[in-house]
Amino acid sequence: MVTIEQKLYGHVEALFPICRSITGDGLRKTLRYIGKFLNLDIHEVASGTPVLDWAVPPEWTVRGAEIRTLAGEPIVSFADSNLHLVQYSEPVDTVLPRAELEPHLHSLPNQPDLVPYRTSYYNRTWGFCLAHTTRQRLVDAAYRVTVDTTIEPGSLSYGEVLLPGETDDEVLISAHSCHPSLANDNLSAIAVAIELARHLAEHPHRISYRFLFAPGTIGAICWLHFNRDVVARIRHGLVLTCLGDEGKPSYKRSCRGNALIDRYAAYVLRDEGLADRLLPFDPTGYDERQYGSPGFNLPVGRLSRSPGGTFPEYHTSADNLDFVKPHALADSLRLTLRIIHMIEHDRVWLNTSPYGEPQLGRRGLYNAAGQGRSAGDFDQLTLMWVLNRSNGSDSLLDIAERSGKPFSSVVAAAQRLRDAGLLTAVP
Ligand code: ZN
Repeated sequence: MVTIEQKLYGHVEALFPICRSITGDGLRKTLRYIGKFLNLDIHEVASGTPVLDWAVPPEWTVRGAEIRTLAGEPIVSFADSNLHLVQYSEPVDTVLPRAELEPHLHSLPNQPDLVPYRTSYYNRTWGFCLAHTTRQRLVDAAYRVTVDTTIEPGSLSYGEVLLPGETDDEVLISAHSCHPSLANDNLSAIAVAIELARHLAEHPHRISYRFLFAPGTIGAICWLHFNRDVVARIRHGLVLTCLGDEGKPSYKRSCRGNALIDRYAAYVLRDEGLADRLLPFDPTGYDERQYGSPGFNLPVGRLSRSPGGTFPEYHTSADNLDFVKPHALADSLRLTLRIIHMIEHDRVWLNTSPYGEPQLGRRGLYNAAGQGRSAGDFDQLTLMWVLNRSNGSDSLLDIAERSGKPFSSVVAAAQRLRDAGLLTAVP
C-alpha cells in the first residue's frame, strides 16, 4: 500500500531530473507526467502570439553546455546539473579569455558551495551558474565555452483540467511548472496539486475545480488572455508554491484582502495556531500577481510553507530532494483540503420557521447533540446559533466566527436542521 506521503514525494522525485523552462520539451514532459494521473488538456500557444501586454517567447531547446580548460578538462557541465546553464542562454562555441568569461558567470559568495538558479528569458545572452568555490579555481588565461541550444519559433505549453461540480462556479488552483531541478519551488506544489485533483475527482463536490499547470508569469498571462469567459466564473483561487519544506504553513491574502478565500484560509490557519503566518497581499511573488492585477482582481490567495525568497535554499542547488520532506507535503495537502472543505460547505441558509423558536422537541432536535449524521459533531448551542443567524444573509462562516463554535460543528448542525425542514438553501 502506497501512502499519500510516498505518492507526493514520488511525484517530486520523478519530476526532479527534468530541465523545465517556460517553453520546451522539459515543460511538455512534465505536463505529460501530470497527464498520467489527471485528464489533462495540454494547450500549445505559438511563439509570437500576443497575450495581454506580452508576446509568447520563442522556444528554448538545450542539448548541452560546458566550460572546459583548453586541455579539455570539464569545469562546469549542464550534464551534471541543469542549474549550471542560465535559462534561455543563446548558443556559443568559442574560446574566451578569463576576463571575458567572468561577466557570464554567476555564483553566490555567501553560499560558496551552492549553484544558483538564473534565467534570462527576455534579454538575449548566455551564462553559467556555478559554486563560488569552483569559480575561485578558474585561474587559466582562457577557457573553451560551448552552449548547444536553439532559440526558435515553437510554442509555449500549459496544462489544464476542469473537475465539474454541481455548479458552474469555479475554484482555480494554479501551480507554476517552469523551474528546472528545484524541488520545493515548483515540484512540491505540482505534487500537492496532482493529489488534490485526484482526491476531488474521486469525491463528489459542489463547486467546479480548475487546475492549471503553467509556466510562471507568461503561462498565467496566456491562460488569462484566452479565458476571459472562465475568469467570470472564478469564485475562489489558490496559487500553490513551496509546499514541501519543514517551515510552518503560510497564506498570502488575495489582492482583495478579505475575500472569502482569505477568510477561509485565515480561519484554518488560526485554528491551527498559525495566525502569525497570515501574510498581506503584495504585488510580487508568484502568479497571484497576474490573477490579482486590477483588470482581473480575482480572489486568488497563495498557500506556501516557507514563502519563496525567504529560505536560504531558495533558487539554489540546495532546493533539492533532501530539502523537501514527505510529511510536509502531506501536511500541505491536508491543509489545502481543510480550506476546500470550507469552500464546499460554507452556505447561506434561511430559517423556514423564523417567528419565535421552532419547537425542537417535536422534531427530535432538543438535545440533539451528537446526532449529527456527518463526521462533525455539534452541541445544542451551535444548533441555536444556526437557527438564529440563518437569516438569508449570514453564512455558516459568519455564524462560526460570531459564535466561536467550530466551523465543522456549524456545518453539521445546519445539515441536521436542513434534514428537519427548518433550513432552506439560499441560492
Ligand atoms: Zn522560483
